[in-house]
Amino acid sequence: MLDRQAKAQDLLAEIFGFTAFRDGQKEVVDAVLAGENVLAIMPTGGGKSLCFQLPALCLDGVTVVISPLIALMRDQVRALNAVGVGAGSLTSGNSEEETEEVFQALEDGALKLLYIAPERLANPGTVMLLRKINTRLIAVDEAHCVSQWGHDFRPDYLRIGALRKELNVPLAAFTATADAQSRDEIVTRLFDGALPSTFLRGFDRPNINLAFQPKNSPRRQLLEFIAARKGQSGIVYCSSRNKCETLATALRAEGHSALHYHAGMERDDRRLAETRFQREDGLIVVATVAFGMGIDKPDIRWVAHADLPKSMESYYQEIGRAGRDGAPADTLTLYGADDVRLRRAQIDEGLAPPERKEADHGRLNALLGLAEARRCRRRVLLRYFGDEIDGCGNCDLCASPPEVFDGTDAVRKALSAVLRTGETFGAGHLIDILRGVTTDKIRQRGHESLPTFGVGAEYDKGQWQAIFRQMMGYDLIRPDMERHGAFRMTQRARPILKGEESIELRRDTIQRQNRKTSKAR
Ligand code: ADP
Ligand code: ZN
Repeated sequence: MLDRQAKAQDLLAEIFGFTAFRDGQKEVVDAVLAGENVLAIMPTGGGKSLCFQLPALCLDGVTVVISPLIALMRDQVRALNAVGVGAGSLTSGNSEEETEEVFQALEDGALKLLYIAPERLANPGTVMLLRKINTRLIAVDEAHCVSQWGHDFRPDYLRIGALRKELNVPLAAFTATADAQSRDEIVTRLFDGALPSTFLRGFDRPNINLAFQPKNSPRRQLLEFIAARKGQSGIVYCSSRNKCETLATALRAEGHSALHYHAGMERDDRRLAETRFQREDGLIVVATVAFGMGIDKPDIRWVAHADLPKSMESYYQEIGRAGRDGAPADTLTLYGADDVRLRRAQIDEGLAPPERKEADHGRLNALLGLAEARRCRRRVLLRYFGDEIDGCGNCDLCASPPEVFDGTDAVRKALSAVLRTGETFGAGHLIDILRGVTTDKIRQRGHESLPTFGVGAEYDKGQWQAIFRQMMGYDLIRPDMERHGAFRMTQRARPILKGEESIELRRDTIQRQNRKTSKAR
């Protein structure tokens, strides 16, 4: 075992040309070499492939690598061959000749790594082959593809668990998706519920500054952020194609060089935007989430979200495009009640099965929790992924910790307004009730006679909006899209309503609204 570890250390330099392991790699390599079942959760670009390639070279026999990405498999095979490692792939991308060569090489015992596409597992011949070639380790890349409620579900991944048992060899699963639900499903489906040695490292990107702001005057907030970073490369993410175009125009009017990018554009135009962004300095791309997959630009200095992303995972992935070179990078995420409504609607109106929708709401709630966090954002973010850090000092909340107050009373008033009106109204009308504003709608419904009418006069409209937003963030209420965004109370709100739990609200998001009101006067 120690021999193998020493060998691994040597091969790291000799074959891969690296002077040292990265954070987390050595532990995973050692566990795999020790014959343990392993689940390694590492962020994209964290160096997962080394964690199975290196052990493959130290072990006898063949390591079978299962990956859903054909292009990536072919790249890895090419790179391994280039440094003299016997590797081949069996995918639908192969020519007949290539496949023949792979079989021959297997016959000759010349391959250390065999990459196969999951579809191959449906073929009984594959299992026989894998047995015959002395498979000693199964490595599963993108292991979250086994999760039925995730976004990348690949039915053939469900066959991997059986394959592991059939071959009776250790399995090492790798993923960058770290939410607890995906993790549980990986353990259930790949390891039959027996906990593998689990490693989670390297999610922190300490050079990226994290900041959120509620939308007060979003255009101005965004322009200020960008003006302070003039001449730097950055990405603005928007939730609609239309907005990408209008924002890019607005930025150009402010003297920035800016392009828009979305999936509705011609392929050539998209290519051009990508190439220009890659090559030019100081270019801003205003884009939908369609932008970023193939972008490998190390010196993106900032990422701004003009609208709230759809989940904690998307947020992490999108801000993670900044500062790949390790130099300081800034991010700003703007969010408002409309964003929450839009995101909820997108989930509810989607075609996903109910369990998946529930999970998607949960991922959105986690992000809202981050937006309305009361202390270090980095801790909240990393804790969601299961990673712990001591201090951060590089987020807006560390820079100026927000003041909180006991908001139980305000929240109970709001909840009672929701309930007394039969969970049929959105924020606007509920706020009118709370503030005691007699509108036509109030009169028509007889809502002046509600006991909640006028009990919340101490807050203005903007302040109540902030309270409702924080309530959504805590998942106490949810807008029902089938009923025009009428708020429904969730189970979570019951203990607060009953006086069994109290709740803290951030004072600053409420005060900021105040400043705006006084400015607008
Ligand atoms: P992913 O985790 O996304 O699969 P890769 O395995 O492709 O990441 O690795 C990302 C990059 O990091 C690659 O360019 C790889 O060569 C590099 N890399 C991996 N391990 C090390 C290391 N120990 N030292 C230096 N670079 C490394
Ligand atoms: Zn912090």
